[in-house]
Amino acid sequence: MINLKTFEVWFITGSQHLYGEETLKLVAEHSQHIAEGLNSAGQIPVTVVYKPVVKTPEEIYSTLLAANTAENCIGIITWMHTFSPAKMWVRGLNILQKPMLHLHTQYNRDIPWSSIDMDFMNLNQSAHGDREFGFMVSRLRKNRKVVVGHWQDEEVLGQINAWSRAAAGWHDWQGAKFARFGDNMRYVAVTEGDKVEAEVKFGYSVNTYGVGDLVKVINEISEAEIDQLVTEYETLYTMDASLKKGGDKHSSVYEAARIELGLRKFLVDGGFKGFTDTFEDLHGMVQLPGIAAQRLMADGFGFAGEGDWKTAALVRACKVMGAGLEGGNAFMEDYTYHFDPNNSLVLGSHMLEIDASLSNGKASLEVHPLGIGGKADPARLVFNVAAGPAFNASLVDMGNRFRLIVNEVEAVEPVEDLPKLPVARVLWKPLPDMKTGCAAWIYAGGAHHTVYSQNLTAEHMHDFAEMAGLEFIRIGKDTTIPHLLNELRWNDNYYRTA
Ligand code: MN
Repeated sequence: MINLKTFEVWFITGSQHLYGEETLKLVAEHSQHIAEGLNSAGQIPVTVVYKPVVKTPEEIYSTLLAANTAENCIGIITWMHTFSPAKMWVRGLNILQKPMLHLHTQYNRDIPWSSIDMDFMNLNQSAHGDREFGFMVSRLRKNRKVVVGHWQDEEVLGQINAWSRAAAGWHDWQGAKFARFGDNMRYVAVTEGDKVEAEVKFGYSVNTYGVGDLVKVINEISEAEIDQLVTEYETLYTMDASLKKGGDKHSSVYEAARIELGLRKFLVDGGFKGFTDTFEDLHGMVQLPGIAAQRLMADGFGFAGEGDWKTAALVRACKVMGAGLEGGNAFMEDYTYHFDPNNSLVLGSHMLEIDASLSNGKASLEVHPLGIGGKADPARLVFNVAAGPAFNASLVDMGNRFRLIVNEVEAVEPVEDLPKLPVARVLWKPLPDMKTGCAAWIYAGGAHHTVYSQNLTAEHMHDFAEMAGLEFIRIGKDTTIPHLLNELRWNDNYYRTA
């Protein structure tokens, strides 16, 4: 569903006319070579496009203006092979709206000790040319990612990879539409937020649709389509005989399939990238969507429960950023704790809707009572989630800005079977340790709803936060409470004046 190769990152080299045609020809050749190298490097998922070397304020302005308006351009990489006097960049940088990565590299990795002369020195000046450029970007207070090292270096490629994935997620938000069925769960605070400000800052819109409009689409789904989807369920998932065709509880699965088809149609026809619903507003629906939300998420839609549009949008962004990588990105909630001092754990889950892309092995399709909402027993997929490094991320509205909080965690295999737990579940240990990690999260105001990611890292999220102008709080192995409290206070002061 999401193919990152369709996105372009433009490779733009700055220079000037001072050096003469011969040198400029070499600058262009080298830049082309680097752009091709980045484009063909397996680590970088997007298409890297070489752009002609810019040597004047006019060329810089028109290239950056074109980057702004090019539909598939998600960001630019800049590099000063030679010296490019940075007053030439002011006008272009002032109008640049796409994310920027400043690649502080050099065409040759090593100094050619025996042959180095002044011609070589004239051509290979990024060590000081990039400093002149960097000053101007700093002077203009523009966010960017600075990556240092030879362009074939693995670490450099990894950093460009993370940034280009973040840029793809950011690009995906621009003009994105998220559908909200019903309002927030009554009285809940952290899932609320300023949707107007979010659209101004993040580029996506959240609008509400009457659940009746959705029910109408659901009720128009044909029996043939439902029958086909139920057959697909029976092939993909472990199912009790009572849930299969002819079984006495089959109608629950049949209704769940109808809901999935209706929701999918509503979202696809309306061009939505995600949605949120609430168990408090299901008029005309037979069940709360369980398996429907799970399978739509696995196909790339953003989702979060109880009207939580911020998390739904963040789930979608993470799905774009992680496209093509092993592992998943899912809606998650810190549900309950295991406070064994020797093995403290968080059990993450939701009422129904944990993303099936996390499933470790074949999922089981089950029907159980929900206990809230007063609707029929919903169908849901039940599964365990693999052990390994992951993170939880939460986006909260602090009143004068949005804050992105990331807590790195280590997921573990379930210590015991959970035979009576009728929902998908994950067990993890927060970093740096249970008590510090949870306390830091609470001090930072992190929500109970999160995006759980197996295939992204704090680096992706930091790059994303820089593009979005978000406050970024990372809770990881080096976090201490006194330092975190200071950081939160410093940030509060910064955002009061910024
Ligand atoms: Mn919830």
